[in-house]
Amino acid sequence: KQLVIAIDGYSSCGKSTTAKAVAAELHYAYVDTGAMYRAVTLYLLEQNIAFHDLAGVERALHELHITFRRNRRTGRNEVCLNGTIREDDIRQMRISNLVSEVSVIPMVRHAMVAQQQRMGRKRGVVMDGRDIGTTVFPDAEVKVFMTAEVEVRARRRQEELASKGEIVGLDDIVENLRKRDYLDSTRAESPLRRAPDAVLLDTTHITIDEQVDFVLERVSA
Ligand code: C5P
Repeated sequence: KQLVIAIDGYSSCGKSTTAKAVAAELHYAYVDTGAMYRAVTLYLLEQNIAFHDLAGVERALHELHITFRRNRRTGRNEVCLNGTIREDDIRQMRISNLVSEVSVIPMVRHAMVAQQQRMGRKRGVVMDGRDIGTTVFPDAEVKVFMTAEVEVRARRRQEELASKGEIVGLDDIVENLRKRDYLDSTRAESPLRRAPDAVLLDTTHITIDEQVDFVLERVSA
């Protein structure tokens, strides 16, 4: 039976690394919903549309087209904005610093949630984000909620950015994670929170392999 696996949690807990590995293991599709909010943010910045300009945001949502394309060379799933791969651009710190101000806009959430529900309707999908187990797929068969200590998360994010040539101080990253966690969990529309039926997974002291095994055990249970 093809399932929906929802992986939610705080920023930089290893959600996407875990979700990708689980999807590969099960031959499921993988959808990185954070990449979609990042792509909307990138588009608004490039089009010089202010986040409070709701008519502009509405126009942007009609114009922009978010898709995922598999890079055959790296095996990575890359996000495309209107047909162009923008994977590296959406991961930059300037986007991380603004994305939570865009993801709070109800119109943006409605558009992204609708697209995510379409992408997962045939099931056989691993989706990671903040509100997958609560809003996007409240009927997901497997729900995991990931947490980790903020310093550990910041160090992992710092390494990830460094591997792409962006050197950012640890303090700046900690501040960004704290701010996003706060904005994401206090917004009115589908805030970041653990679904009552989601299992908690603290990744502070465990390896990626252990995280993946933890989710796979829930699938076969
Ligand atoms: O997962 P990632 O850190 O790339 O997500 C970036 C931001 O997108 C989050 O901080 C949050 O503001 C937003 N987001 C969201 N709902 C999701 C996924 C991401 O609001 N399902």
